Amino acid sequence: MTTLNPLEEFICDSCGGIIEKKEDGYVVWDLIENSSQKGKKESLQGNFRIQHRECQQILDYSSSLTEFMGIEGTRQFLDFLDEGEIFKHGLASEISSIRELVVLHRRTHLPYYDQARHYFEKAKKDIEYWEDMDSDNLYSEDILRQIIEKYGV
Ligand SMILES: [Zn+2]
Repeated sequence: MTTLNPLEEFICDSCGGIIEKKEDGYVVWDLIENSSQKGKKESLQGNFRIQHRECQQILDYSSSLTEFMGIEGTRQFLDFLDEGEIFKHGLASEISSIRELVVLHRRTHLPYYDQARHYFEKAKKDIEYWEDMDSDNLYSEDILRQIIEKYGV
């Protein structure tokens, strides 16, 4: 696979095809019913994914991909994590997984991450090659591009 144009082209989580322009992409998520420890039912927001508009299902919650990018995207990301000091609750939104939300934020903000993540499993098996890398920089533009070039066949 050729290297995608970072932060412009994305891989659709539904059909696996390429979203050729960020304006054609949507961030989609679900409300997940969950029973808390006290047996109370709660709805959590989760299963965040990036898709073509035509790959959406009718019941999905969605927002345009560009609203999850740049400054607006960072605002959305932080709002999911914490409502902030203005509202009385000041609590995080009820999300099912912080990791999932962080992955979404990386996909929409770190060049090459969205494509490179498809090769992380292969890269993990190739530990000798990567053990010299500085683990603080694993998501740097340079290393993510190298992962695509090495494993993206
Ligand atoms: Zn698709």
